[in-house]
Amino acid sequence: MLRDDSSQNDLFRSMSEYVASIPPWEKVSDASYFTRLEACSACANIISGICRICGCYVESRAAKRRMACPDVPSKWAADA
Ligand code: SF4
Repeated sequence: MLRDDSSQNDLFRSMSEYVASIPPWEKVSDASYFTRLEACSACANIISGICRICGCYVESRAAKRRMACPDVPSKWAADA
């Protein structure tokens, strides 16, 4: 159990570091990021933080301007 918590913490730290490393011109605004993640968290396609349609960690996918939700219909669009 302790190992699972530790692994989860490591994953969360790695994801946070990865999102922080995305260049500003590739990132969505904080407001868009929040809105996208809100949609993902309410979506039936999310499993343990991973979108089962595209296989991406949603925290990573939602942070990038050029990315869109892969569902049909899409739940959030790429930023222009
Ligand atoms: S990216 Fe789209 S389909 Fe995937 S979990 Fe998020 S809202 Fe759902």
